[in-house]
Amino acid sequence: MGKYDVVVVGAGHAGCEASRACARIGLKTAMVTMNIDLIAQMSCNPAIGGIAKGHLVREVDALGGVMGEITDRAGIQFRLLNTSRGPAVWSPRAQCDKKLYRLYMRDALEREANLRILQAEVAELLIEAKRDLRRVSGIRLRDGREVRAGAVIVTTGTFLNGLAHVGEMKYTCGRNGEGASILLGDQLRTLGLQWTRLKTGTPPRLDGRTIDWSRFDPQDGDADPTPFSFLTDRIEQKQIQCHLGYTTEETRWILSQNIHRSPLYSGQIEGIGARYCPSIEDKIVKFPDKPRHQIFLEPEGLDTHEVYVNGMSTSMPVDVQAAMVASIPGLEGAEMMRPGYAIEYDAIDARELAHSLELKEIKGLFLAGQINGTSGYEEAACQGLLAGLNAAAQLSGKDPVLMSRTDAYTGILIDDLISKGTDEPYRMFTSRAEFRLHLRIDNADERLTEIGYRAGLVTNERWQRFQRKKMQKGAIVDWLNTIRPDSQLCEKLGLSLDDRPTLAQWLRRPEASIVMLRPEIEAKLEEAPSTGILATVETEMKYAGYIAQQGRQIQKLKDAERKPIPHAFAYQEVPGLSREIQEKLLRVRPETLGQARRIPGVTPAAIAVLDVYLTVTKGGAAPQLT
Ligand code: FAD
Repeated sequence: MGKYDVVVVGAGHAGCEASRACARIGLKTAMVTMNIDLIAQMSCNPAIGGIAKGHLVREVDALGGVMGEITDRAGIQFRLLNTSRGPAVWSPRAQCDKKLYRLYMRDALEREANLRILQAEVAELLIEAKRDLRRVSGIRLRDGREVRAGAVIVTTGTFLNGLAHVGEMKYTCGRNGEGASILLGDQLRTLGLQWTRLKTGTPPRLDGRTIDWSRFDPQDGDADPTPFSFLTDRIEQKQIQCHLGYTTEETRWILSQNIHRSPLYSGQIEGIGARYCPSIEDKIVKFPDKPRHQIFLEPEGLDTHEVYVNGMSTSMPVDVQAAMVASIPGLEGAEMMRPGYAIEYDAIDARELAHSLELKEIKGLFLAGQINGTSGYEEAACQGLLAGLNAAAQLSGKDPVLMSRTDAYTGILIDDLISKGTDEPYRMFTSRAEFRLHLRIDNADERLTEIGYRAGLVTNERWQRFQRKKMQKGAIVDWLNTIRPDSQLCEKLGLSLDDRPTLAQWLRRPEASIVMLRPEIEAKLEEAPSTGILATVETEMKYAGYIAQQGRQIQKLKDAERKPIPHAFAYQEVPGLSREIQEKLLRVRPETLGQARRIPGVTPAAIAVLDVYLTVTKGGAAPQLT
């Protein structure tokens, strides 16, 4: 079937970003998926973004990825979350039209000249071994055909040995109605990699025509939606309402009477689920005193009656699900279009991976998305993009694109996974970041667009927009720092003529808002300020002290990251390292002293010993973090 530079296995959120990135950089790329009609399918809730996840999407976009642009076109309700708190943790979320999201993504991928999309099941990875070195050389499809490639990126989501549970019933599947990936799953189990079983779940979907909407509180989106992409000036898509309701005492009673039939509690499910995202039966058991739990009714699209019941993920038997739904005021007559279910699947221990998301022991083989133990579309997308960039870098003989904890939430996600692994599906939270004020949604382009440009992914249009924004920002900051308001401006800002601070000093006051200066800024620039730029300038002025303090801490962390540890480093030979710590270090084989410090159980004393040893022996070469 020919030869490609890169083969991407899977067309979910990781696969789409990986494929598009490789193709756009100029590599001959093939994306293989079990079902072409379900490219970029949202397996669970039809929404992109949310707290910290919105940061990831902005980062994908800033690097030149596609998720943000598609969300802006397919989003039917946008909300900027966390606005009651500081700008560091504001995060956009968009309820999407699920079908449009798929179609727009497929369209975007089909426009890539270097990308071929194939529907087939990948049964096996072709791996060649020369002495101690293993290298991937392509894939074999279930029908026996082979596709050769210089690099393979596996993004198989929940499909590897997937097993669905609905009450006592269980059956193999990749996700709702799709076949599991058994052959590939079984091969991966034999490659000598550590793997585990994880679990996730989804709620029932209802027919909107059978819901009494008057019993729920309507929830509007933002009047002025915040786009995800730095390329989007305004959201054009029609916007809809969602609805809020609550479970009842009867819901609690139904679930507790039937808890013995839950595959979670009967021991039928072996995989580990996410503590932060409990099923409704979990919530009833874990919070017995809570009289009710919130649910949101979220339409799955503009031209469908299907409604997603957010907050009611379950794997209870279908009859229990039906009774549970009917116990909610307004859902007494609601008809279920699809029941909820849980799914268990194989995930690879991400400590098998290098920072580039390449397997340490199999060259050219990259993993991204749910297969690495994460959960969520956004977590998958940012990994897919990084795996794509790194496969491309490797094939073109360039340095890997490595993201540190100080560059991006994406860097934090990868560093957490490869240093600590995960014992439950990993999702991003803002609390995982050390430098939240530095990693904001509004400055993702300042942090990352140059990296995407150097990698060859950022288009000229994006680059020029970014350059214009940088120029505008410099001009605005200079102007604010030098100008003192004249009498007219004093009157507008409510300042007395005796009190004439520079505009920058004025802006640092809690009551001051840069929006009041918009006309003056526009006149100064002789054009409209770029989207989001005023918010960025205001944040950086108001929090200048904290940002400078974080800057110093970031520098310290970067210094530690710059101390490389050779891959084959003999920890056994370092005097003063306990056997237990040696084993932990050998298990992860950290790439830098900074990464070694973050391995659970590796003490500061051990790091000090290692630091001295590396200095005395002059360490060895390892890739530098950006
Ligand atoms: P997926 O989007 O799953 O895509 C996998 C791709 O791999 C598909 O295109 C498939 O066709 C392809 N594939 C698999 N095996 C092969 C093969 N052998 N050959 C060819 N192609 C193959 N996330 C949350 O954040 N919150 C939730 O509450 C949540 N609940 C979920 C509930 C369920 C039931 C499921 C199934 C998923 C849930 N998710 C949830 C997870 C979310 O769907 C995933 O995290 C996300 O889609 C992962 O993206 P991915 O690209 O890794 O894989």
